[in-house]
Amino acid sequence: MQRDKDSSGSYARKGNRPPGLRGKEIGMYYRNLTRQRKNERGEEGKPLEPKIQLSVSVPGGVLERVKECMEEYNQTPAKENSDVDAQFKRQFRHLLSVKFEEFVAETKERNADVRYTNPKLDEKLRQELEQRLQDDVARKRLQARQKLPTMRYANDIVQAVKNNQVVLIVGSTGCGKTTQVPQILLDDAISRGSGSECRIICTQPRRISAITIAERVSYERCESLGSSVGYQIRLESRKPRDRASITYCTTGVLLQQLQSDPLMHNLSVLILDEIHERSVETDLLMGLLKVILPHRPDLKVILMSATVREHDFCDYFGNCPMFRIEGVMFPVQMLYLEDVLAMTNYCFGKSRERRPKRNRPDQKIQHEAMIEPYLRRIRNTYDSRVLEKLRLPESEGCEEMDFIADLVYYICENEPEGAILVFLPGYDKISQLYNLLERPKSPKGQRWRDNLVVFPLHSLMQSAEQQAVFRHPPSGKRKVIISTIIAETSVTIDDVVYVINSGRTKSTNYDIETNIQTLEEVWVTKANTQQRKGRAGRVRPGICYNLFSRAREDRMEEIPTPEILRSKLESIILSLKLLHIDDPYRFLQTLINAPNPEAIRIGVTLLMRIEALDSSGTLTPLGMHLAKLPIEPQMGKMILMSALFCCLDPVTSAAAALSFKSPFYAPLGKESQVDEIKRKMARNMRSDHLLVHNTIQAYRESRQVHAERDFCYKNFLSSMTLQQLERMKNQFSELLYNYK
Ligand code: ADP
Ligand code: MG
Repeated sequence: MQRDKDSSGSYARKGNRPPGLRGKEIGMYYRNLTRQRKNERGEEGKPLEPKIQLSVSVPGGVLERVKECMEEYNQTPAKENSDVDAQFKRQFRHLLSVKFEEFVAETKERNADVRYTNPKLDEKLRQELEQRLQDDVARKRLQARQKLPTMRYANDIVQAVKNNQVVLIVGSTGCGKTTQVPQILLDDAISRGSGSECRIICTQPRRISAITIAERVSYERCESLGSSVGYQIRLESRKPRDRASITYCTTGVLLQQLQSDPLMHNLSVLILDEIHERSVETDLLMGLLKVILPHRPDLKVILMSATVREHDFCDYFGNCPMFRIEGVMFPVQMLYLEDVLAMTNYCFGKSRERRPKRNRPDQKIQHEAMIEPYLRRIRNTYDSRVLEKLRLPESEGCEEMDFIADLVYYICENEPEGAILVFLPGYDKISQLYNLLERPKSPKGQRWRDNLVVFPLHSLMQSAEQQAVFRHPPSGKRKVIISTIIAETSVTIDDVVYVINSGRTKSTNYDIETNIQTLEEVWVTKANTQQRKGRAGRVRPGICYNLFSRAREDRMEEIPTPEILRSKLESIILSLKLLHIDDPYRFLQTLINAPNPEAIRIGVTLLMRIEALDSSGTLTPLGMHLAKLPIEPQMGKMILMSALFCCLDPVTSAAAALSFKSPFYAPLGKESQVDEIKRKMARNMRSDHLLVHNTIQAYRESRQVHAERDFCYKNFLSSMTLQQLERMKNQFSELLYNYK
């Protein structure tokens, strides 16, 4: 499937529609055009070939609502319609013409008289807090909390926050930053009798950590979720009470809230968590904070980071005070591939699993150049069989899943109890290993299967939202968690003693020359490996098995490149426009790491081409709608248009497959068979996109007669991918449905 940079621009190709149309007019133009075409076809009496079958299964109401609006619009007299248009235009122009400074002044004025102080509520909250300490269970949970290193600094943190607007807290993962810091500040406010003034937001890089942490903190406070603690993520929330509360939300949600409350007037404390990950969103938020803080002297900001280049953040915020919280860490033994091979005696190439061979000749040469000098250095320390295996490119990383499964069994056999945490790059590899451990073919695997409790941990997997992954397994069983980078810092599972680090991760990459952004599997950095190692030493001394050699580690980068330097910028530019920051060049230059101006230019040009910006760089009505959808603007336009054209189902299929991947896999040697199946599924439509849609439809049909396993097997389809595509389709439709 090709990612064509013109794909969604095609609607707007010159000559397709008269110039100068705006907003609703565009929709109306296309509606009329469709009607006209329908009529023309009717006269000729033959429908267009091939005909797309519409079987729309979107959340009830989306299409109905669009149709209702259209009908209403048609029935309203022309004059009223033009009144509506004029009104929309007026409001919209106002929104655009306001400069940032005016916008800020307006919101300041609006909030000037808002007072949150409520002495009655303050007193009630204080009494509640005191009462809670009488309760045995609550006291026990508080005592457990007090064992966390962060709690030892509680008073210092309160003082530092009182005396400074921005404070940086750096601590090893698991020391209690995310769960404790918000509680420390909330309970301090309540006990001082100013609970009603306190409203805390703590941002999380991922949906799953926002949920699990909110649940955990509610539990620690002996409350149900949604009382003083809640969460808010896209399309889903359990909001806490309005005042004296903590909300864990994704960074994206906070960015969206800025559109209506740019100075965060309803907040007293903002905590930006996991800033060391350097996601686009946290980098942007830090940049925005520098604009916002002078207008909000009473807003407190706490930045939290693992120990990775923390001085960068300190410098960025004018040498703000920094706290270091040292966690208790047991020693962790570091083993590398050569050691693992020597221990397990695994033989490569045994497995007859369908395994894609991804090693290209140039990769083989690179591998040779790296490994040969190293082999010469270690030939007296390691067995010659080990050296031979190191020569195989597939021995490192996670190319051979049986090797990793074998290592899991090895640990079970030889090491005392303790959970195993396996780091893999992404969804595919995680499900491969999961299936291997759950449905083993080897006798060894079958022997161990019943002794394992396996949890996949990936933001797209349902199990990620189960608390069971945090609990101790039943006695006699060993817990195995197979996770992406997510368990590196943002989710802490306590009883891990063994870490298997494949050393691989998925990373976006953006090539300015070709203007293509990809998601690729790459080697992690040394900093990642250090964090992963730390995960093994939380309860007692542990072991970290790195599935790469020391020679490979020497070649790894020190720290990850900030995401903003590896991303396309159009979504970012569009959301800045919505915040009235209309010069993206100037603003992006103020970030910790400024992106390349050429990347900004490409982003602006694309936005103009899809008519999200007009030729002067001003947001268009379409652009405003696209900015509000949390998906790429090109994709957003495609989906928005599909709703108008009543073809949401096929288009969301295409969008899902473009954002994720094709559901087909091609085992070695079966490529032509797969091609044949694809041709059949495509039913002469000559389109990769409609092929995916047909496949999804056929999958749905097979499911109705409970024949989906057979269907997937016969047609070389991954049912996991198909299920994920269906989930994404639903999400897209929900986005439209919930669109405000
Ligand atoms: P940090 O943010 O410093 O990495 P956290 O505040 O996330 O640390 O975690 C502190 C401790 O809280 C962990 O060591 C773990 O014991 C516990 N914890 C965190 N989340 C959960 C959870 N969902 N279930 C059970 N325990 C948890
Ligand atoms: Mg944390």
